[in-house]
Amino acid sequence: MKDRIAIVTGASRGIGRGICLELASRGATVVACARSEGPLAELAAEAKTRELSGTIDPRVFDVSQREAVEPLIEDVSGKYERVDILVNNAGITRDGLMMSMNDDQFDDVLTTNLRSVFWLTRAVSRLMVRQRFGRIVNVGSVSGEFGNAGQANYAASKAAVSGFTKSIAKEFGKRKITCNVVAPGFIETDMTSGLPEELKAGAKKMIPLARFGQVEEVAKAVAFLASDDAGYITGQVLVIDGGLNT
Ligand code: NAP
Repeated sequence: MKDRIAIVTGASRGIGRGICLELASRGATVVACARSEGPLAELAAEAKTRELSGTIDPRVFDVSQREAVEPLIEDVSGKYERVDILVNNAGITRDGLMMSMNDDQFDDVLTTNLRSVFWLTRAVSRLMVRQRFGRIVNVGSVSGEFGNAGQANYAASKAAVSGFTKSIAKEFGKRKITCNVVAPGFIETDMTSGLPEELKAGAKKMIPLARFGQVEEVAKAVAFLASDDAGYITGQVLVIDGGLNT
């Protein structure tokens, strides 16, 4: 992935951090975006310490702030003259049962998980169309594909990302831009560490591979879909859930 310029959101920890390291290990220049400055600086330092062939360029960026999107993309394209890969990974949960879910719980999740994907994709697509090359990978969720009680807001946002992705794939196919979803099941990150132990134990019993996934297992799939090797794959949802939904 030498000479490829990638933007990854939600890069400060969890899956996004793993994606940044995986892309950088394959030689990409990775613009790593999140709200927390300290962890981003640590990520950039880790890439240097490990002497990865690519680099991490950390950016403090809040995906829920629409007005921050165009300046980010202008800045990145001004510096690197192109954007080859966009990974829309930033995501939040605000779980709750339907009858008690308030408007903020719904709107916050939709803004961070869905509207941001629209804003960023629109902004980079102009560059990718001009380049006649692009790889967009959106991080969805099995909740969006199969539903999950207590996650109507989150599942709605992730299902919408899948529909968005399939449409973009059709719209931009002729321009050699691919767009796919990676839909993880239970992955060991901060997002799942707070789940009740009972729920985690119950989930593991339902997973044929009998464990939660690792960040790197998602990151490698994202890196493949973002690579030149995945040039004939578009509009797909790749479920990475240890067999949970098979
Ligand atoms: P995580 O550990 O909670 O990390 C979330 C990341 O998103 C952090 O880097 C966070 O950084 C960033 N983020 C959140 N809001 C943001 C905002 N407004 N602007 C910019 N960055 C923001 O979550 P994760 O488990 O790695 O999840 C990553 C993605 O995978 C999400 O889309 C999630 O829905 C999806 N997913 C996860 C699982 C799982 O089991 N872990 C399963 C299915 C899908 P800052 O707080 O520094 O901004």
